[in-house]
Amino acid sequence: CGIVGYIGELDAKEILLRGLEKLEYRGYDSAGIAVAGEEGVSLFKSKGRIADLRIIVDDSTEAQTGIGHTRWATHGVPNVKNAHPHQDVSGRFTLVHNGVIENYEKLRRQELADVQLVSDTDTEIIVQLIAKFVFEGMTTEEAFAEALGMLHGSYAIALLDEEEPDTIFVAKNKSPLLVGLGEGFNVVASDAMAMLQVTDQFVELHDGEMVIVTKDNVRIRTISGETVSREAYTAELDA
Ligand code: GLU
Repeated sequence: CGIVGYIGELDAKEILLRGLEKLEYRGYDSAGIAVAGEEGVSLFKSKGRIADLRIIVDDSTEAQTGIGHTRWATHGVPNVKNAHPHQDVSGRFTLVHNGVIENYEKLRRQELADVQLVSDTDTEIIVQLIAKFVFEGMTTEEAFAEALGMLHGSYAIALLDEEEPDTIFVAKNKSPLLVGLGEGFNVVASDAMAMLQVTDQFVELHDGEMVIVTKDNVRIRTISGETVSREAYTAELDA
């Protein structure tokens, strides 16, 4: 299981697919990518190999922002419906997650009683919660922090907001996640190996941190709102 993300000037989908191929060694049962472009967010998901996902990815979908996921199912059988990315009911928010949300049943009952969930995953409640908070008046960043503060368990998360296609929102707690830095682009990955194809400059993230990533900037903060500054390091691995 793994996560990748790209935001920049090149076509995101090929970089995401190559990144996911580099993460195949970690094991997975399904995979998916979402790209955000002028025509909104396009979603591609499949059970099985990245090669199967490649077949369904529409070559004409040009987009410079995207997120990808390989899933190792913990809640809900491996199928297309349960594969990530997951979206909220409105389709505005799109999210990938590695890890386990231990209190998802409770959050679903307490916060999302009137939402018709699409999948059987623990993950879907995260994106539905974020959407709920935004529609109640929060900014996406505030809603993301609010939702993260309610989660018990492990997560590496990347989130797209269709209304802000020039940003990827990221968070980490007890699951691996790194940000990679480039000239005119930035990336996200569970493992530096996934993005050595485009950069060897990475910034590590600590548990309880979230990151607001644009193509020219990476802003790290804690869930409670403190600014974090951290230097990049050079990953010395063979791509
Ligand atoms: N718990 C989530 C699910 O079952 C994420 C699993 C993973 O880490 O890939 O969908």
